[in-house]
Amino acid sequence: MKRFVYADNAATTPLSDTAFEAMKPWLTEFYGNPSSLYRIGRQAKEALNEARETVGKCLNAAEPVNVANDYKPGEIVFTGGGSQADNLAIRGFMHGPGAKGRKHIITSKIEHHAVLYTCEALEKEGFRVTYLDVDKQGHVDLEQLKNELSEDTALVTIMAANNEIGTIQPIAEIAALAHAAGAVFHTDAVQAVGHMHIDVQAMGIDMLSLSAHKFRGPRGVGVLYVKKGVALAPLIYGGGQERGLISGTENTAGCIGLAAALKEAVEGLDEKMAYVKKLNDRLVEGIMKIPYTHYTGDPVNRLPGTASFVFEAIEGEGLLLRLDSEGVCGSTGSACSTGSLDPSHVLMAIGLPHEIAHGSLRLTLGEQNTEEDVDYIIEAVTKVVAGLRALSPVWENGKPNLTAASNLHAH
Ligand SMILES: *Cc1c(COP(=O)(O)O)cnc(C)c1O
Repeated sequence: MKRFVYADNAATTPLSDTAFEAMKPWLTEFYGNPSSLYRIGRQAKEALNEARETVGKCLNAAEPVNVANDYKPGEIVFTGGGSQADNLAIRGFMHGPGAKGRKHIITSKIEHHAVLYTCEALEKEGFRVTYLDVDKQGHVDLEQLKNELSEDTALVTIMAANNEIGTIQPIAEIAALAHAAGAVFHTDAVQAVGHMHIDVQAMGIDMLSLSAHKFRGPRGVGVLYVKKGVALAPLIYGGGQERGLISGTENTAGCIGLAAALKEAVEGLDEKMAYVKKLNDRLVEGIMKIPYTHYTGDPVNRLPGTASFVFEAIEGEGLLLRLDSEGVCGSTGSACSTGSLDPSHVLMAIGLPHEIAHGSLRLTLGEQNTEEDVDYIIEAVTKVVAGLRALSPVWENGKPNLTAASNLHAH
């Protein structure tokens, strides 16, 4: 029996009913501009500040709103999503007074493009960036981090968990190393928030990016947590909203939906994640029975819902299209259609050979998924992989012909 199974929760997640209900009034009757002084404006402002407090509590921020100063945003700055939060953190910090003239940034080779491309843009402006290596499971090299930190290092930005392979980084340890060198620590926690415990104070995080749609909130709204005392330059100039860092009339409904979804995700996190991990373990076990399949990432210290694989003698795109016809939504780090022959920078950084990295598949489960979904995915992937291999020029007598494979992808 054919089913529809959404297994791409790292790309985005379905809006939760709780978040939707919380948003509704702010999309309809309560339309006031939060900067307006009359009642429906003040109501919107109050609701925004409540949302800030909720987000702050979920992250254990010390001062989510600045009560003394007319409820000005304290440590929780609303943004237009995860990418905007990353851009504000990195660009805003390097251009702001907090950098104290230091010109060096340390990041990793497996960051999201919102971080990598911001760093590349800053390099063109004269800043210096070190891209740390990772090991075969995707952990950043802490020895290299220690060696690269210097009196010129202003910012260390390392993701909490990777969006392609799910590997979790030792965030508290990295933060401590950064602080010892007098640098500020930012983490892109877009995949982590709502899926693992995050405590900004206990982990020593100075700035943290999150995005609502990765934990069942609405798309297009996020947060940059900015610890009190960390000074940033604005990213968007205008009316001065969000401490003047991201001007523009606030997305009231979106911010309220974000807070509702985050509260829901954080409450009962342990039980939900235990459920998702159990499903995911079943998935990994089933998929790994397919011959010439490799697991990518850290099999233990990873996001509970993320599983990623490479299949020898398979092209990721063809795999996704066939899975789509079977009703299964997944994702691949190989994207030949975009004109780039290279597999994802993450798969390259963990040292996968080209001819294998092209056959990557990421399946990310959420609490909406069931055991039946998982069994259906396993059946569909097994069937599709066998079908594609039967047609593959690099598959001979039930095994991959590696010489043919490396010729095919030589460039
Ligand atoms: C999705 C994602 C982003 C971008 O977030 P948007 O809200 O889509 O802009 C950034 N970093 C990571 C790790 C992500 O997974």
